Amino acid sequence: MGRSITATDSAPRIARYLGLLAGVSAADIVKATSKLRGRPIVVRESEHLNGTDACGVWFAHADEDRIFHAATPYESYRQQIVLHEIAHMLLGHDKLPPVETQAPDFFSDLPLDRVRWRASFRDGVEADAERLAYTLAKLVSPRQRSLSGFAQAFE
Ligand SMILES: [Zn+2]
Repeated sequence: MGRSITATDSAPRIARYLGLLAGVSAADIVKATSKLRGRPIVVRESEHLNGTDACGVWFAHADEDRIFHAATPYESYRQQIVLHEIAHMLLGHDKLPPVETQAPDFFSDLPLDRVRWRASFRDGVEADAERLAYTLAKLVSPRQRSLSGFAQAFE
């Protein structure tokens, strides 16, 4: 594995880093990220996120990563949320110092120091994740839009 990637790297460079070719599915990108991190990534829908400022959240637990996304009928929107959280992982944002979070009450029992909310794009970290998520989306083939493979792949 070469040097780590940055938010401004090109799609081909990121594809090489992930060991993927273009035309993959978002689930393939999740799988490749899981392999790089050496731990499972679990992707789940959470209706708790609907109606909040956060449409996605990533919990970096000791032995696995969990991504929760808001319930949506739109696969492209779900993909966008998941790839944003994946971008945080690829950029190593779990190694940054804790940030002040605006987590709603329903997550108050969880260790929030490792949680990042997609709340403010003024945060440079959020802007970086969004930029990389956009580049990751370029690797996804329109024919591979469905994320329905997620649950089976990571259980
Ligand atoms: Zn974010």
